[in-house]
Amino acid sequence: MQELRGAAAAGPPVTPVLTGAGQRATGTASQALSSVARAAIEVLAGDLAASPMKECGRPDCTRVYLDRSRGHRRTWCGMEECGNRVKAAAYRRRLKERAGE
Ligand SMILES: [Zn+2]
Repeated sequence: MQELRGAAAAGPPVTPVLTGAGQRATGTASQALSSVARAAIEVLAGDLAASPMKECGRPDCTRVYLDRSRGHRRTWCGMEECGNRVKAAAYRRRLKERAGE
């Protein structure tokens, strides 16, 4: 595989800060870009099957999302956008099949 060098990743990353409200980060825009580039390299180099990043299950949708659901069984990028569309289409298909019987 060709080596992928991220010039942005070479710079210093943002500084993580732990607060009473959780974690946040401070830094400049170039530091933020470095952190994003570093995270992208980690995702691309890692085991994608074990990654929480998934593609939406609706064939016409091109979105990816982080599956942070319990059991990692989330299928859609969002219920409103895709999950409901797929479920409604399956329901209509079942009704049509029943009507044809
Ligand atoms: Zn989707």
